[in-house]
Amino acid sequence: MSATLSFGIKDIWAAQKRIKGVADNTPMIPSPYMSHVAGHDFLMKMEIMQPIGAFKLRGAMSAVMALPDHVTGVTCCSTGNHGRGVAYAAKRRGIRAVICMSELVPQAKVDGIRALGADVRIIGRSQDDAMAESKRLCDAEGLVEISPFDDPHVIAGQGTIGREMLAQRPDLQTLLVPLSGGGLAAGVAVAAKSVKPDIRVIGVSMDRGAAMHASIKAGHPVEVPEYASLADSLGGGIGLSNQLSFPLCRDLLDETLLVTEDEIRDAMQVMFFEDRIVAEGACVVGHAAMLSGKLPQITGPVATIITGRNLDMAQFLAVVTGEDVRLGDLLLKGKCYGA
Ligand SMILES: *Cc1c(COP(=O)(O)O)cnc(C)c1O
Repeated sequence: MSATLSFGIKDIWAAQKRIKGVADNTPMIPSPYMSHVAGHDFLMKMEIMQPIGAFKLRGAMSAVMALPDHVTGVTCCSTGNHGRGVAYAAKRRGIRAVICMSELVPQAKVDGIRALGADVRIIGRSQDDAMAESKRLCDAEGLVEISPFDDPHVIAGQGTIGREMLAQRPDLQTLLVPLSGGGLAAGVAVAAKSVKPDIRVIGVSMDRGAAMHASIKAGHPVEVPEYASLADSLGGGIGLSNQLSFPLCRDLLDETLLVTEDEIRDAMQVMFFEDRIVAEGACVVGHAAMLSGKLPQITGPVATIITGRNLDMAQFLAVVTGEDVRLGDLLLKGKCYGA
C-alpha cells in the first residue's frame, strides 16, 4: 500500500516530461447536442487524435521512456490499445516488443500492432490468459512487463489527460471516465483532484464484466466473467494482486456507473450522427450514462474522454445503420437512429 500513498501529482508532472511532443496536447471540443441534453457544457477530450488513435500512448510512452538503459525488450497483455501504445513507444526507443492478447481482441487492433513491427501472441479466451503469457515471457525471454493499468508510470502517463483537461477548462465540475483496469481513471482522478479537490470523477463501465466496479463493491479485487461487448476495450480483470489502480480508484472515484449494451449502441449512434465522430464503444460510456439518465444531477460543465478509435469498421457500420450485432452469446437488436 505504500506505493499508493507515495503516488501523486509529482509523478504526473514527471510523466508529462517523458511524453512531451509525442503523446500530449489533444484538443477538447464541445458537443452541442450533449450540452443540450446535459443543460451545461459537455466537452469531449479527443484522445482519438493520438498517433495510435488512443490515449494509451501516454501511459506506454511514460513507462517505456522511464526504463533503465540496459532493457532490450518489453512485453504486455492488452485488449488492443495498450499493446499498440507499447509497440509504438518501443519502436521509438529502438527495443523489442511482444504483445499478448486474447482471441476476443478485434482483428483491426491486431493488424495495427503488427504494422508497428511488434511480435503478437494470441493466447486463450480472456485477458487473464494473455496476462499469464506476458508474465511467463518476462522470465523466459528476459523482457520487462508493462502492465496496462497497474503501473505507476502508466497511471502517471494517463493522468496527464486530467491535467490538460483542467488547464483547458478550469471550470469543469464533473469528469466521466471510461473505466476498465482503472489506470486512466486513477491517473485522471489524482491529477484533477490535486488542482480541484471538489471535482467529481465518475468511472463508467459496461454492465457485463465490470471488474473494477465489482471489486470496489466487494472491497477487494475480484474476478468477473469476461463477455464480448461493444465496449471491447473495457473488458478484462483488474488482477487479483492489484497494487495501485484498485486502491486509487476505490479512494478517489466518487462513483462507478454501469451501462448496458443497448445504451452503448444508442450512444454510439448519438456520437456518430450528432457529434460526427467515429470512435469505439468504450468511448461513449460517458454519453451513455448521461443519455440513460443514470448520472446523478449535473450542476456545471462536464467532460468525458473519447479514448480510442481503433474499431472494427464492419461492426461499427452495423451499429450505426441499425443492424443486429452478435456479441458472443448476446444478439444485440438493431435500432435505426431517430426511429
Ligand atoms: C484501455 C482503454 C480504456 C480503459 O482504461 P483503463 O485504464 O483500463 O481503465 C478505455 N477506453 C479505451 C479505448 C481503452 O483502450
